[in-house]
This record gives sequence, C-alpha cells and structure tokens, in this order.
Amino acid sequence: MIEINLSILNQSYSRRMGWYPPVSNPEVAPQRISGIEEILDQFDLIMLDSYGVLCRGMKAINGAVDAIAMMRERGKTFSVVSNDTMTNQYVAAEKYAARGFDFANEEVVTSLDVTESWLPTLEDPSRWGVIAPQPHPTDKLLEGTTSLNACNGVIPDHVDSILFMVGTGWTQEMQDNLEASAKGRQFTMAVGNPDMGAPYYIDGNIHINATPGYFMDQLVEATGQKATPLLFGKPGKAIFQTVAERHGVTDPSRVLMVGDTLYTDILGGNAMGFKTLLLECGIYKGTDVNQAIADAGIAPDFIAPHL
Ligand SMILES: [Mg+2]
Repeated sequence: MIEINLSILNQSYSRRMGWYPPVSNPEVAPQRISGIEEILDQFDLIMLDSYGVLCRGMKAINGAVDAIAMMRERGKTFSVVSNDTMTNQYVAAEKYAARGFDFANEEVVTSLDVTESWLPTLEDPSRWGVIAPQPHPTDKLLEGTTSLNACNGVIPDHVDSILFMVGTGWTQEMQDNLEASAKGRQFTMAVGNPDMGAPYYIDGNIHINATPGYFMDQLVEATGQKATPLLFGKPGKAIFQTVAERHGVTDPSRVLMVGDTLYTDILGGNAMGFKTLLLECGIYKGTDVNQAIADAGIAPDFIAPHL
C-alpha cells in the first residue's frame, strides 16, 4: 500500500480536472440541512456513495442503517453507487450484510460492474496490462490480459494499454517500475476506480491509502501520458448512466446523489443534472467543508453532517 495525505489527495484531483466531466455547480449556495429526511420528498431516486456515507471500513457509520430503513419505509427507491473494484453485483449484498445493511444485490452498482460490462468489448486483451491483486473476482473476464502486479510493475513491450483496477497489493516499488518502464511510451488508459485515495481511521486519526486514480496520476506526471483515460467509476458518467437506465430516470432533477467527496460524488452528480448532498462524516471529517468547496470550486446543493 502507498499512503498519502489529504492535501496530496486534493492536489491530485485538482490537477486532473481535464479527465472529469465539466464542473456544473448549482446556481445557488449550498443549503445546510440536518439530514436526508428533510429533503426526501423532492426526490424519486436516491444514489448513495458507500465509503464515508454508509460505512467506514468494516463498520456502518452511525445512523446510516436507520436512514436506509427510514427510506424503505417511505417507499423511496435508492441505489448504492460505489467506486469499488473488488465487489460486483453478485457479491454486493453479502458485503453489505456484514456491515449491518439489508441491500439486495440489485440495489448496489459498483465501478467493477461497469468495468465488467466493458471488458468483453476488448478487441485484443493481450495488449492490456492490469493493476489488480490476484485472485480477483473478475479473473475470468481478464483472461488474456497481463497482470502488472505479477510483473512487479514492469510493463512488457507488447502492452500498450493499462487498466487501473485495484490498489490492494500495489507497492511503491511496483509504481516505480511502472513509471520507469513507461518512459518514452504512450498508453491507452482506463481506470476502474478513479478515486485518488481511500481513507481509514486509526484511533480517530485519518490515514489515506492511494488508490488507482492516484497511480494513474503519478504515471502521467512522471511520463507525460497524453491520453484522456476512460473512467468506469465516479465522476465518470458511465456508472451514473447505468443506474439511471436501470431505474428509468426521465427527470434528473428528481435524483439525489449523496456523497462525501467533492471531486467524484458531487462533481459527477452535478454533471448528470442530479441534485447533490455532501456529507461531512467521510473524507472531510474534522475539516472545514466550506473551505474544501472553495478550494475545489465544486459545490453541492445540500450539506449535512451525516445521512
Ligand atoms: Mg466516499
């Protein structure tokens, strides 16, 4: 694992805005609310980020399980929309049950689902190098590609395209080898999890593990890659479109995207024409979210301390 801090995380996102949909902020300043129940009537479909909104590591965030029960009682349709490239639609319910949630598989859409629907369209898998631990739930669909983890990060000569999927098991040495072997070459790039980092907490203190978006950012910084990467997770549109199509959304302003990260959940939700709710119980916990909004230049419609 490669550890980064919040300032490096924000800096990495902000210099890659060209990879993301254009910023489309609400016309009015964010409205402070006490929780999602206050605005529920305005929406037909609620999309929920997972990490920092529903759970933190293996635990549900206080109040999240009750909030889901309340939405069910009110007859609201919702979907978890997560940049999770280790969980697909077949194992989602099991993962969330371990954290106290009663989601059905079809109530969760992950960036792994979107990646898995794209993989069969590859014309020549042998040109692709993949960053993901082995074994991985998608191994069957990855047949014919090269595991860059197994190459200790060194990109073989026949590989001209890189899929950044999962950070687990990816080391600084592998990243150094990736960058050294990419010098003087240009690659097609796709990223399953565009997040720059995943926060975790020890004794209440935040730590952030770098995730695939960051590996790609560092590769581009070191080797001047020119391609715009394909994004299968937030803030890319593909994952939101997958959910919107599943639920037959006709009026995007009746959809609420709830998240804890401005550059992924909020930027992506705004770009789709959804309303957005930023929670303070995730990555920005203990910091000034108004400052984060000003620094990022990305604003939600609503801000709440938690669900
Ligand atoms: Mg999150």
